[in-house]
Amino acid sequence: MREPIGRTYGLVECIKATYRNKCYLENIRKILDDPQKSERLAVPSCRLCFYNGRVGGAMCTSAQCATCETIMRFGSTSTDILCQPCAMIRKVCKQCGADLNDKERRKL
Ligand SMILES: [Zn+2]
Ligand SMILES: [Zn+2]
Repeated sequence: MREPIGRTYGLVECIKATYRNKCYLENIRKILDDPQKSERLAVPSCRLCFYNGRVGGAMCTSAQCATCETIMRFGSTSTDILCQPCAMIRKVCKQCGADLNDKERRKL
């Protein structure tokens, strides 16, 4: 049987955990309040993609737009699903494809 993992807990750990929680809650507030709406719509990006940022491995990656022939290039493995013009025309997030205003659509 393996040894149990040793842990320490003190003021530093308490401060770190509290800071992490505050950052998380502030980000949720931003997602709900949408303080940078005009910048977000200019991308175009949905609230979650815009305020959550991107997580991806650092590697030059290319991907074809899901609705046209455009080849897009990225500095990470986190690639967009649509090119910017296609996302603008459809009023959807270029990163994930969600409606920019969180509307439930019946057609694209
Ligand atoms: Zn496209
Ligand atoms: Zn999105």
